[in-house]
Amino acid sequence: SAVEEVKFDFMYFVQQWPASYCATNPCRAKPPPPAGAFTIHGLWPNYLKPTPGKPGPENCNSSDHLNPSQIQDLVNPLTQQWPSLSRAMNNLEFWGHEWQKHGTCSNFNQHGYFNATLALKIKPSNDIAKILAESHIVPSNKNAYGFGEISDAVAKGTGFRANLQCIKDKANGETLLYQVYQCVDRFGKNVVRCEAKMESHCPASGKRIKLPVLPLHSAL
Ligand code: 5GP
Ligand code: 5GP
Ligand code: 5GP
Repeated sequence: SAVEEVKFDFMYFVQQWPASYCATNPCRAKPPPPAGAFTIHGLWPNYLKPTPGKPGPENCNSSDHLNPSQIQDLVNPLTQQWPSLSRAMNNLEFWGHEWQKHGTCSNFNQHGYFNATLALKIKPSNDIAKILAESHIVPSNKNAYGFGEISDAVAKGTGFRANLQCIKDKANGETLLYQVYQCVDRFGKNVVRCEAKMESHCPASGKRIKLPVLPLHSAL
């Protein structure tokens, strides 16, 4: 059957820092393995010139539900690298959500989409925690870093400047590094130069961004 190609310009490969997610969302009590690593949020087709509220094509085939048998051989690495941190969703529900919303627009089949995303994640040049550590940016509930030093460290380690997203810790108002958005070509293959800009929610100056470790507060 002839499948229409979905048109878009690039993809965002988005990794999240689990402890930062847990600062603002009901998350699983135990951080997922491997500790001290970013996990995958998703691989999202995107437009370079988005229209308001529509950063990229979404939900391209509502009848194409994720079939677990299609990704059976990937369940172990997906469980490690792409766990749902949400208390409201199990892993398969999270993968199914990402497939429906973004994967169905990616021009990959189900296995290809998850395989390509895992391939990006396990590339040493996309190992954000290791790359940050090489620039002496390490997980800590005390140390804070500047936007520029984090951005420079990611650029140095991955080869390209990425978009960074911060969130505010609800309990104390501190700013946490939450997600790293790397630009990838429209084949989901290679990291490329990021032409796209986005709202970072990161503070403009000063060493005020934390890369927290769990537990964040004695109350947790
Ligand atoms: P948030 O509002 O938490 O940044 O994003 C909510 C959801 O909107 C994300 O999980 C993702 O599905 C979608 N989204 C946010 N930013 C982008 C983007 O830049 N591109 C695409 N394609 N989707 C995005
Ligand atoms: P998005 O639409 O933003 O791509 O997907 C996020 C959706 O998946 C939200 O409904 C969120 O509650 C849920 N979700 C499940 N697990 C996770 C997770 O580990 N991280 C994030 N950011 N969202 C998750
Ligand atoms: P800093 O002053 O934190 O050392 O460096 C911040 C640099 O990153 C500046 O050159 C600023 O223009 C650039 N930049 C680009 N996008 C952003 C953003 O979204 N937030 C912040 N804080 N800086 C950004």
